[in-house]
Amino acid sequence: MARYTGAVCRQCRREGQKLFLKGDRCYTGKCALDRRPAQTPGQHGKGRKKLSEYAMQHREKQKTRRYYGVLESQFAKYFEMASSKQGVTGENLLRILESRLDNVVYRLGLAMSRPEARQLVSHNHFSVNGKKVNIPSYLVKAGDVISLNEKSRGSEKFKTVIEANASRAVPAWLDFDKNKLEAKVVNLPTREEIDLPVEEHLIVELYSK
Ligand code: SF4
Repeated sequence: MARYTGAVCRQCRREGQKLFLKGDRCYTGKCALDRRPAQTPGQHGKGRKKLSEYAMQHREKQKTRRYYGVLESQFAKYFEMASSKQGVTGENLLRILESRLDNVVYRLGLAMSRPEARQLVSHNHFSVNGKKVNIPSYLVKAGDVISLNEKSRGSEKFKTVIEANASRAVPAWLDFDKNKLEAKVVNLPTREEIDLPVEEHLIVELYSK
């Protein structure tokens, strides 16, 4: 299971934007971006310069990829899937990314960040429709039921995470029963229900060259 293994905060600094990859730390004064805003990584990080059209498209793709923790080749596959579906390709792409199981776990507030959700899924803490699934890239469908496995419910880890995320809103496309710790996918999200500051049309333009 390939994944990015470099310095996490470096990705946010590269994009000049918070990608919320470290959970709690992202909301405190310890966030690298709060301490050194608008700089590219490195000892002598430079201020931002005006980007070419291609560079803007490329950056938007990189930012989106990093939000969801997806490597280049997988992102390209998602784009192919999105193009082959009916509807607006950019929106289809975001919908596919949102339907990854690790993202759903994060959206439910059962992990502090997407990277943590990825790890929790791969450590066998979740089931889909009653069957254990340990593949973070598993794509959920409307009607699927995602649950925290019985054995994991009493763990201190989940108690802490659930408490810390108690005030975080769960998106309307997921019907979450906080007592049963299970959620039904009501429908896959519309663009309006995906709250990421992404200009997906730039990604479509990039892949259409
Ligand atoms: Fe990004 Fe979080 Fe690191 Fe801040 S603390 S730079 S938001 S990963």
